[in-house]
Amino acid sequence: MSILITGGAGYIGSHTVRYFLEQNEDVVVIDNLQSGHRNAVNIEHFYENDIRDQEALDRIFKRHDIEAVIHFAANSLVGESMKKPFEYYHNNVYGMMCLLNVMKDNNVNKIVFSSTAATYGEPMNIPIQEEDETNPTNTYGETKLAMEKMMKWFEQGYDIKYVSLRYFNAAGAHRSGAIGEDHNPETHLIPLILQVPLGKRDRIYMFGDDYSTIDGTCVRDYIHVMDLASAHYLSLEYLRSNHSSNIFNLGNGNGYSVKEVIDVARKVTNHTIPAEVKERRAGDPAVLIASSEKAKNVIGWSPKFDSLEKIIADAWNWHVNNPEGYTQKFSKESVRGAST
Ligand code: UDP
Repeated sequence: MSILITGGAGYIGSHTVRYFLEQNEDVVVIDNLQSGHRNAVNIEHFYENDIRDQEALDRIFKRHDIEAVIHFAANSLVGESMKKPFEYYHNNVYGMMCLLNVMKDNNVNKIVFSSTAATYGEPMNIPIQEEDETNPTNTYGETKLAMEKMMKWFEQGYDIKYVSLRYFNAAGAHRSGAIGEDHNPETHLIPLILQVPLGKRDRIYMFGDDYSTIDGTCVRDYIHVMDLASAHYLSLEYLRSNHSSNIFNLGNGNGYSVKEVIDVARKVTNHTIPAEVKERRAGDPAVLIASSEKAKNVIGWSPKFDSLEKIIADAWNWHVNNPEGYTQKFSKESVRGAST
């Protein structure tokens, strides 16, 4: 049987595909390539389709014996979501409805979902626990919460079991340096910092230094993308053993300020990386740190690459090997298995 990975050509999706292949799982990918990269997945069964195309989705389910779905395909930029709520509701919420509908029709009853710390909004407690209040402060987080709730009701009605994984700040790359983070435009802190030693920008701007944190800059919980990938696999194994649906935070439980992240990047790259303070970015909570005790206790997850230095070193390795991202690395011909 096969595992269908939606959005498998994206950043976290492609690392999860890689991890699943390393576990000898049979993987099928669907991705509309709106932000993913065809070259990020070197597999035979790749479909360039949109999950909202239910007929195409149904054909994929019928062609392959799909056991479970790992669902990444979604829009995921906080700032953009505030300007384009229609697109976010349409791709994320309606997309989830289409996917669950096709799963129901094909009797597929397991889904692992890519959720986010943005479902919590401004946290009431640090570290954040799964039972804490969810009160998103942006459209992106609101759509992910709506998707979680949809799965809850589809479980009631159709017995589709789910695990929702609420990621904190994903970073890093596969150790090979063959796949990594390549967003256009890039908005995330670590790849933006690394653009300085790569010669693509002359400095990094720090958005606010007057928060009530150790040095005034925002504190986040950075988690290695391969540790996220392994959590998806453990979640699938958990559902395979007939456990009930569940929600888990995924973070390291350590917070690093923007200044601390820049300092570690200076050490890793051996570059001075000039930094300048700018005004705060709208909607940024001061501190986001996960409690991942539940994931550790229930699915036996433990992050392997939990030092910020290792996370940044792996990201740096990818960027040094692929300064232009995926565009430069492979020619089209080198990709096996044409899309259908
Ligand atoms: N940040 C920054 N400069 C940048 C990009 C991000 O100071 O050029 C800060 C941002 O305000 C936040 C932290 O870095 O406090 C992490 O931001 P990112 O966008 O990577 O992730 P988020 O926490 O928003 O999911």
